[in-house]
Amino acid sequence: MWIPSLLACLLLLAAIVYAGATLSGSLVEAAKTAKAAKAAKTEQTEQAEKPAKSARPRASAETATIPTPPPTRDSRPAASPGTPSASPAHIAVPRSGPGTFTTARSSGAVVGGSGPLHRYEVQVEDGVDIRPEKAAAEIQTMLADPRSWAAHGKGRFQLVAAHADVIIKIATPATTDRLCASAGGTHGELNCEVSGGVIVNLKRWVTGSPEYNGPPAEYRNLIINHEIGHLLGYGHMDCPGPGRAAPAMMQQIKGLHGCKSNAWPYTKDGTFIDGPPVP
Ligand SMILES: [Zn+2]
Repeated sequence: MWIPSLLACLLLLAAIVYAGATLSGSLVEAAKTAKAAKAAKTEQTEQAEKPAKSARPRASAETATIPTPPPTRDSRPAASPGTPSASPAHIAVPRSGPGTFTTARSSGAVVGGSGPLHRYEVQVEDGVDIRPEKAAAEIQTMLADPRSWAAHGKGRFQLVAAHADVIIKIATPATTDRLCASAGGTHGELNCEVSGGVIVNLKRWVTGSPEYNGPPAEYRNLIINHEIGHLLGYGHMDCPGPGRAAPAMMQQIKGLHGCKSNAWPYTKDGTFIDGPPVP
C-alpha cells in the first residue's frame, strides 16, 4: 500500500529533522558552557594573582588630644529612611565587652584593579548588637566606592571569612583602648590602626562624630577610609583651606579648621582630596 509507505516516509523525515534540531541545540549549549568555563577560569586567574608588596603599614591612633565629647544621639540627624546602611541608632554602646570576637562568615570578589591585595576579615566583639555579616557588607560597599582607595589603584581589597592579612574589628570603647594601646591612647573615643588591622570604636560606629555633618551611617565611611588610609601608608593631613573639603586623612573629629567634613579620599570626579601633612 502506497499511503502507509508515504506516512512512514514522512514520519522518518520528521524524526530526522527533530534529531537534527536537538543536535544543533546541544552544540549551542556546549559552546555556551565552554565560554562560561573560560570566563570563570579568567576570574580565578585574576583572583589568584600574587599581590604586589604592600606599602609598609604604620601604626596610628588619633591620640594627640581628647576629642570634643560627642553630643547625645538625638542631636544628630537621623539616617534617611530606606538607605541600606541606615544607622542602627537603637544599638546600645556598652562601655566594655568580653574581648572576644565573631568573624563575619562572608566573602566577596576582589575590589580594585591594581595595587597590593589586602584580604580582610570583619569581626564584631561578642555581645554587641551588630551582625558581623551586616557590618562586613557595609565595609565591602565602602571599599568598592569610586571615591575610595581601591578605585584609584591604591590597593585591592577582598572580604574573606578566614586567613585574612587585615582584620577590621568593631569593639567596645574599653576593648578598643586595650587593643589600640600599642598605637597610643584612644580614650574610649577614637579608632586606631594597628599592625595587621583596624580597630573601630563601637561608639564612633554607632553614634558618628560631633564634627561630622551627616548621619553616623555616612560617618562610618570616614572611619574606614581614614584607618585604611593609614594601613596604606598615609599619615595625617590638615585642612587645605577654608571652605574646602576636609581630607579623609585629616583628624576631623578634633576640629575641622575651616574645612567641610568629608568622608572620602577622592572627589566624585577622581581628584585626591589633599591637605598639608601634619608632622
Ligand atoms: Zn589617623
